[in-house]
Amino acid sequence: MSLIFKFLLTALVVLIVWWVVRFRGRMSGLKAAFKAAQKAAATEAARTTGTKGIPVTLVACPKCGTFIAAGTACTCTK
Ligand SMILES: [Zn+2]
Repeated sequence: MSLIFKFLLTALVVLIVWWVVRFRGRMSGLKAAFKAAQKAAATEAARTTGTKGIPVTLVACPKCGTFIAAGTACTCTK
């Protein structure tokens, strides 16, 4: 009886350890994926907005409606 109980307890502990390891592995995988996505997004933002990394505000031209960077003159005014 005692032997069976010990065996079951050992099996339970092994199962719990396996669960914990699996869960932690999945969490670290998610964390790595999240970091990679964040890095990719930052790289994409830096690439599209230039090396300065400052986002460009786009405003619609009051005359033709073309979206141009704020503070710059539209080509239709020339
Ligand atoms: Zn215009």
